[in-house]
Amino acid sequence: MSSAPSTIKGINVTRLDIPLHVPFGIAGGVQAAANNVLVTVMLADGTRGLGEAAPLPAYNGETQQQAFDLLLAANDRVVGRDIRAWREIGTDFAMHPGPTCGSARCALETALLDAMCRHDRVPMWKFFGGAGTGLETDMTITTGTAGEARAGAAEIRQRGIRVIKVKIGGAEGIAADMARLRAIREAAPDAPLILDGNAGLTRDGATELVTALKAAGIAPALLEQWLPKDDLAGMSALARESGWAVAADESVRTVEDVARIADAGAAQIVNIKLMKAGIGAALDVAQAARARGLELMIGGNVESILGLTTSACFAAGLGGFRYADLDTQWFMAANPFAGGFSARGGMLSLAAITAGHGVDLGA
Ligand SMILES: [Mg+2]
Repeated sequence: MSSAPSTIKGINVTRLDIPLHVPFGIAGGVQAAANNVLVTVMLADGTRGLGEAAPLPAYNGETQQQAFDLLLAANDRVVGRDIRAWREIGTDFAMHPGPTCGSARCALETALLDAMCRHDRVPMWKFFGGAGTGLETDMTITTGTAGEARAGAAEIRQRGIRVIKVKIGGAEGIAADMARLRAIREAAPDAPLILDGNAGLTRDGATELVTALKAAGIAPALLEQWLPKDDLAGMSALARESGWAVAADESVRTVEDVARIADAGAAQIVNIKLMKAGIGAALDVAQAARARGLELMIGGNVESILGLTTSACFAAGLGGFRYADLDTQWFMAANPFAGGFSARGGMLSLAAITAGHGVDLGA
């Protein structure tokens, strides 16, 4: 076994349960707390790296238990290797039997990269390309009533956040969504709106909602994944018939998915999330999307400042991201960490980070 300072000496895995102020509702279900997993990687020289897994059952079925078990079992394949092999270690990790668990791979790769960047005294945004240190995030109004949506929009404006993302496509139906969207428009008349269906709408429902939005004089900035993830023809028709930009989220996890989306003309923007398949895979997807002329968005699951800052480093460092949806720390009732990005309104800054993602366990 190597004894170089950059050798991985240990990996620690714990549950990271964080209560939310209000449940986080999307078309597929509601999350009442963030049930995440924290990974710590220790190097021979004492350097530590932290990573977060944020499985979101309502999004893709991954669970905290699954991520926890897989990461615990990874010990033998990680300890003793050099931290510079982070990408290979991540690929090896994904070879486990059973269902894939992108959030677990993301946690491991985040902890490895954080340890490597701290070892080298490099901020993670610089490691990813150094394009910039700033991003503008939206804030989300989750599924709920029109009254809640109105209050949410007013609060977002009060926070000085410009872009509003709205979760639509829940069980209450199109008329209920329209009542929420009218309420949001009244409270925030000039906010760019991203309408995220989380694959919960039918083609007929989508057509009905487009017609109603046009009748109400509401022009969204972006229609994010209204239709089922494999209905690429429907997505293409939605962009054509509405005249509005469509983003693919659930439809895109791999480079092959990017090619299918581009070939079908199913979206103009791809929502990249490190939790989908890990950081190495997200780098490949970003590269493939840009090569096919698709614009980029960075998003996440229900993540603490740890996961969110990693994603912000990825997007700001690579550059060229049109939209950022990195807001879930504002839904949490506690922050177990210190450091990470700073926020002024929706403007996130990584400029103060000196090494890694800069997030440490809090006091
Ligand atoms: Mg989405």
